[in-house]
Amino acid sequence: MVVSSGFALSKRSLANLEGVHPDLVRVVKRAIEITRVDFGVSEGLRTLERQKQLKEEGKSTTLKSRHLKQADGYGHAVDLYALDKSGKATWKHEDFRPVIQALMTAAIELDVQIQAGALWRTFLDSPHIQLNPEYYA
Ligand SMILES: [Zn+2]
Repeated sequence: MVVSSGFALSKRSLANLEGVHPDLVRVVKRAIEITRVDFGVSEGLRTLERQKQLKEEGKSTTLKSRHLKQADGYGHAVDLYALDKSGKATWKHEDFRPVIQALMTAAIELDVQIQAGALWRTFLDSPHIQLNPEYYA
């Protein structure tokens, strides 16, 4: 598939992909090439201290987040934001749909198994994308 969105990941987004599993990085890098809506990476690998803080604040439900370094030495999750037409970051669920669509398309193209928090019913987490734990221990 030869499509060019004209978008590119910012330096900060690329820096936030450091320490993230290479398969997930490939998906994000492909997604930015095909997305209809620009997006960025707000967070990838997370420390346990930060995870504890997020749980206390009710922003996460677990201390076993896939953002933490996993057994293979990589973080298995990223949080994204969409950019509206004026270049402002947005976390609104409806703004995320085209971004999630690009991520899913990229994952299918690259044969990487991912899960989107935008599809979770118990704890809707629109910005969150992770490798499927069934395939990535
Ligand atoms: Zn997340």
